[in-house]
Amino acid sequence: MNETERATKQLCHTHRPPGARFFMTSGRALAVFWLLTVSIFAALFFRLVPSNFVEHVYAPTVLAAQRAVLGGIASLVPFSLAEVLVAAFGLLGLFAASELVWRLVRRADRSRRGRWRACKTFAWVSLAAAWLYLSGHGIALARPPLADRLALPLVAQDARATRLSELGLEVARTAREERIEWTRSSSNGDGTDVPASERHAIQQEARTALLAILGTVAPDCILPPGGIKACYPPRLLMRFGVSGVFSPFTFEAHADPGLHRLEMPFVAVHELAHVAGFAGEDEANFIAWLACSRTPNPLFRYSAALAAMRFLPQSSALRAEAGSEVAADRVAIANHWQQKRWKVTSKVQRIVWDAALKSQGVRSGIASYGEMVELMLRWRLAGRTTR
Ligand SMILES: [Zn+2]
Repeated sequence: MNETERATKQLCHTHRPPGARFFMTSGRALAVFWLLTVSIFAALFFRLVPSNFVEHVYAPTVLAAQRAVLGGIASLVPFSLAEVLVAAFGLLGLFAASELVWRLVRRADRSRRGRWRACKTFAWVSLAAAWLYLSGHGIALARPPLADRLALPLVAQDARATRLSELGLEVARTAREERIEWTRSSSNGDGTDVPASERHAIQQEARTALLAILGTVAPDCILPPGGIKACYPPRLLMRFGVSGVFSPFTFEAHADPGLHRLEMPFVAVHELAHVAGFAGEDEANFIAWLACSRTPNPLFRYSAALAAMRFLPQSSALRAEAGSEVAADRVAIANHWQQKRWKVTSKVQRIVWDAALKSQGVRSGIASYGEMVELMLRWRLAGRTTR
């Protein structure tokens, strides 16, 4: 550095306000922003984020803008932008890890003030990812519960068991009837290896199904263009016991192309429901059930009933009402998963996702998927139908 450069640097330093001087050290700025991010996570965990603010201020402005901009950009490409970003993030992580190992091994370099370029870039990119996650999904978990937003009545405790049993029988009966309708109208195979053309048709119809009910459940929500995208390679998500994924970084909904045909419609609408701002898993499940149940396509209606049956209390009466053919389909779906999922990765995924949900204020964690039943009960009690 020559004299002129040194003098210019000194001048800049003198005229910079103290706050800016503090943030000039990117390490300090990183620490401050990470601390802020952790504080928001803590606020979600302790449920300190005011739900009315999220519902009436945050959701119609920030969340809606993110949905429109990020979802709009992602809809311009036919492939999953999120997968490309995840791959790039993984590469950056590898560079950062290599840099870290290199500096730890070369003790002489450690003593000198190095730039830690890859590690710092990785920390900044991770920070941006954490903010996109929080603003596109995490904070939306603090919205008031959907049942309150729709003003659904509470189920009286003394009537709960009866209502639950009635609902179970109704869903089982629907499954039996819709299966008959579906087999009458379709000559498709055994449910596995769904052809790409049929998959695309299901993905397209999933979007139509959700749009048809948005006016009732979220009148102000505008869904970005584009629909469900496939994750590649096929069955990669299933290896981890995952059927679909919503990316809050790009507002893309994904479903594994290896899913059983009878699961595909429900999963597709569930992931799209996340795009529409239904962040809770119980809410996305309920929306998927409602949207699929209201379509004219019996495959969708059957898929909805089968998915709901998973979360209803199992009983001999329910099994009898559904019939042997529905039971055989449920076994076929279970076998399909058995073949596709890896035990260890699925177990790890469950533990991690359970902890992640709990860390964001969802007390029941992974069990919250089953809480769709509560919404179904309250929807039914309000006299609202699925047709
Ligand atoms: Zn979900």
